Amino acid sequence: MISIERALELVLDGLEPLGPERVPLADAAGRVVAEPAASAVDLPPFDRSAMDGYAVRAADTAPGVALRLAGGVAAGEVAVATLEPGTAARISTGAAIPPGADAVLQSELAEETDGTVAPTRALAPGTHIRVRGEDLTQGMVLAAAGDTLTLPRISALASAGVGEVAVHRRPRLDLIVTGSELLPLGAPPEPGRIHESNGLMVRLLAARAGAEVVDHGVIGDDREATVAAVSEGLSGDVLVVSGGVSVGPHDHVKPAFEACGVDEVFWRVRIKPGKPLWFGRRGDTLVFGLPGNPLSTIVCSAVFIDPALRRLAGERDARPRYEAGRLTRAARASDGRTEYLTAALRPGADGVLEATPTDRQGSHMTGALGESDGFAIAPEDIDELPAGAPVDVLRLG
Ligand code: AMP
Ligand code: MG
Repeated sequence: MISIERALELVLDGLEPLGPERVPLADAAGRVVAEPAASAVDLPPFDRSAMDGYAVRAADTAPGVALRLAGGVAAGEVAVATLEPGTAARISTGAAIPPGADAVLQSELAEETDGTVAPTRALAPGTHIRVRGEDLTQGMVLAAAGDTLTLPRISALASAGVGEVAVHRRPRLDLIVTGSELLPLGAPPEPGRIHESNGLMVRLLAARAGAEVVDHGVIGDDREATVAAVSEGLSGDVLVVSGGVSVGPHDHVKPAFEACGVDEVFWRVRIKPGKPLWFGRRGDTLVFGLPGNPLSTIVCSAVFIDPALRRLAGERDARPRYEAGRLTRAARASDGRTEYLTAALRPGADGVLEATPTDRQGSHMTGALGESDGFAIAPEDIDELPAGAPVDVLRLG
């Protein structure tokens, strides 16, 4: 059995971000930039007024001087005529400054009467003018390769005239759920059967990690059906098979992997829940065999599959995002495995994240998930963590 760190290393080993594709900016939120995205324009693209008021020549302005009103410029218009000395032109916020003008007299500092405007004070040149290129110049890189397109970055690119960006392709995850006992979501109970939840969790977690999921549905515990589904599911970037990865008479997943030419990289990790995790590769396709217990599926998805998907999607640091927390009650790892304890997470009075493990713990204790926000992690090499001990925490929002 290998450690979690070693297993993650093996999963991420040699994994490169997927090739680029160009997508409309409107669809690019959360994607990772593959080629630098640069401003298509200067910003502002022309000298603009920062105020509603009057375009003037600063040298003409003094208290009490009457400037003749000569037309006006609204936002979106361009004045062609030069503003003559001794005149003023009405101007709206954002409108282009007419040639000849070098300041904007804001409405509040002006008295307009009978076709003239009187400033209440003298203006310095440049007053209330947003100068071309003061924010950005054309060609300036706004998002570098490896940057995630956050909403602020998307907004900057939109303003900079960028309509399309080159991002890393989204990984495709093929999902197969095995188990003859599984009932669809919300189906009426039936004797001997339980409701499916792993497939749903893998789909939701994968979507959040930026993957496109191809769902092959639920198949019964049958050798031929398993081989057929696995062989069909091997054409994407990642194949995830839930359940059936143990060594029982109804566990057909490992033989199916073998029959389809998937090479085993590891089987079994010192993690609880999730020990029977199987991982292999066929060509560039990563293949995960998840233990069927719902908590094992969630933990293995968060700790191993999510990082693989994020790396493929181009994220620089794809490792799980552990946070520093503190236990509110004692905890321990059991039987030499690092244990992911379902826990309620709340900020303490001093701002440190406090983790309270739920009373019920176990790979089948799905009810405890209802009381938890994520996991507190009890490392395999520490016998006992007392209340108040620092602990790594993994949120699962
Ligand atoms: P397995 O790994 O197939 O032996 O399954 C281990 C346990 O997890 C069994 O109790 C299964 O009924 C349960 N299980 C397997 N698959 C799922 C699933 N998709 N949703 C919920 N429980 C499951
Ligand atoms: Mg099963």
